[in-house]
Amino acid sequence: MGDKFRQVASKVGPAERDFIALGIATGAILMFVGTGGSVLPMILRNLRGIGAAPDTMLVNALLLNIALIIFGWRRYRELTQEIAERREAEEAARRLAETDPLTGCLNRRSIAPATNQLVESSKMKGRAVAFLMIDLDNFKQVNDLNGHAAGDRILVRMAEQIAMLLPGNALLARLGGDEFACVVPYDAAKPEYIDRFSEKIVDTIPATFDDHGISAQVTVSIGIASTEMIVSSASKKFAGVKAHDAEDTVAQALLHKADIAMYQAKKKGKNRFFWFELPMEKELLLRNEIETGIRQGLLRGEFQPFYEQQIDLETNELVGFEMLARWHSPKLGEVSPEIFIPIAEEIGVITQLSDQLIDAALAEAAQWDPRLTLSVNISPVQMRDPWFSQKLLKTLVLHNFPPHRLDLEITESCLHENLGNVRVMITSLKNQGVRISLDDFGTGYSSLSQLRSLPFDRLKIDRSFIQELQNDTANPKLIEAIISLGEGLNLPITAEGIENGRILDTLKQFGQLKGQGYHYGKPESGSDVRRRLQSLGLLKHSGASADLPILLPADAAEPVSKAG
Ligand code: C2E
Ligand code: CA
Ligand code: CA
Repeated sequence: MGDKFRQVASKVGPAERDFIALGIATGAILMFVGTGGSVLPMILRNLRGIGAAPDTMLVNALLLNIALIIFGWRRYRELTQEIAERREAEEAARRLAETDPLTGCLNRRSIAPATNQLVESSKMKGRAVAFLMIDLDNFKQVNDLNGHAAGDRILVRMAEQIAMLLPGNALLARLGGDEFACVVPYDAAKPEYIDRFSEKIVDTIPATFDDHGISAQVTVSIGIASTEMIVSSASKKFAGVKAHDAEDTVAQALLHKADIAMYQAKKKGKNRFFWFELPMEKELLLRNEIETGIRQGLLRGEFQPFYEQQIDLETNELVGFEMLARWHSPKLGEVSPEIFIPIAEEIGVITQLSDQLIDAALAEAAQWDPRLTLSVNISPVQMRDPWFSQKLLKTLVLHNFPPHRLDLEITESCLHENLGNVRVMITSLKNQGVRISLDDFGTGYSSLSQLRSLPFDRLKIDRSFIQELQNDTANPKLIEAIISLGEGLNLPITAEGIENGRILDTLKQFGQLKGQGYHYGKPESGSDVRRRLQSLGLLKHSGASADLPILLPADAAEPVSKAG
């Protein structure tokens, strides 16, 4: 019968099965009361030898009754056990869904409702809530250097460290990767409490990770948002927002604002904390717009090379041009390369952008007099690409452009990244005949030994030093020192940022220099350069005069050909 029941039971759902079991047990008890009431006394009397034995059918019915009661009781016990197990499993699943398996903190999903709850309960006590977004600085490098297992241990230690500093009623979550969040109630009149808490985290973390055989230099950047900064859910309800949406938005708005402030902390040098401020949000919106604009602009060919003249200061010859990127965004208007180049580097499209520009510039420069050189700026990110020199040479071949006419300007910051790789790259480029200049010299702290160990062809003194010469109080000693350093290293020098005749005259005292700057005109488009060269007879197929130099009249900014 047990099997039969199991068969029936397997055809019905657990709830139905329990209902049937309960029905059977109840029926059995009722029957037991009825049957047992008459049969049991008969049995007892018969045992004492007083009356007749009860009918076999009745005894059987009684036994069946007892069996059914036992079955009901067992089923009841199974049921309670099943419910307890199910409840435990559900609890475990909930815990798993709400916590980060590595650190045991809350996770990204659970922090929102938990924050909302904390905000509500704090509001009732008249307290504000601060949301701290905590992000490890350079964690990727630490991971790459020490391995993922070490990275995980650092994250665990970090969670422990923060948890130890955390006030009792606060929340801690790992939002993913190397990003944590703390939610801390505080007295709105005393935000310095949160300052102190953040300071403690910033100060405690870096000293931490020198155990387990890892000595990693890890710091954190923190962005802070407060419920004081957002419209309360009550007023949102008033404004017609559904209560549920409004509550959702409190946690989301806090996270969003803290994220923006954290981004600011990173930008301002990491290892620090920032409270959210409204202008940060505007800046981020603009940045996002620029990012999207760059990606679209790349597809639509919006980036154009412009060219700045480079002059031999001693002879007044026009010797070449530096290509400078220009972007006229249909949405944002003219955007400076000082803004869009770093963003293109950050979002990983600088190679694509630079390839487009160099390609266009080589096509343009191939039409110039072969004695004119082309300088292009190369970002440190491009120097990390092991295929860079190969790709560049391929482009040179494509445009039939002699390598010795191309000058790559790399900044000192390239040298700090990976001197070994940079040396290999520079040597390989130089072996192919390409020239290499060190740009913005004087701003990047390269050491003398670095300068000596790399085969540069030229130093470009940063325009900030040259523009010093404009002041009456200017002391040319520094420039003199830089120039004699160049001489000592046997490196010719270009001065950039020559804005007027006065600067030019001072520079001319220092011997053989090349120079460039607004004194000779602003950077021009390819077609303007072609017109200029045409009038100077310096286009390849315009019967260019074979004999440079192209002299400038002593008082003129416009270079003219010897014949002109
Ligand atoms: P840079 O290589 O130092 O370029 C010289 C900058 O100084 C240019 O600014 C130029 O317009 C400006 N300049 C030239 N003469 C004068 C002058 O007399 N006075 C003043 N005040 N400024 C002068 P620009 O075009 O805004 O470029 C800024 C920086 O953007 C460049 O500095 C370079 O680092 C970067 N850049 C520009 N184009 C590219 C590119 O295609 N690739 C890469 N990686 N970087 C680029
Ligand atoms: Ca440059
Ligand atoms: Ca420069």
